[in-house]
Amino acid sequence: MTHVDGNALAGTFADILGIEVTDAIGQCAGCRHRAALARAQAYATAMGAVVRCEACRGVLAVVVRTPRDVILNLSGLAFVSIARSALPEDS
Ligand SMILES: [Zn+2]
Repeated sequence: MTHVDGNALAGTFADILGIEVTDAIGQCAGCRHRAALARAQAYATAMGAVVRCEACRGVLAVVVRTPRDVILNLSGLAFVSIARSALPEDS
């Protein structure tokens, strides 16, 4: 399966979180690589997506859409830093 860059997931995360996160900086919990989420490798299907670290290929995030819920697993990220200007209440 070929991947696309993290920008392809902007709509998904905007739908779920209500904020634009592709400019956000994320740190891989595995290798500690820190980069914009837009640089991560995204593998998207109709059921959801897997986002992998560009450095170690470890899983950063998983999004699964079920008929009833959207399940978001961010356990592969040590942290995400989002510019306050991207938050609705601060813009
Ligand atoms: Zn990594």
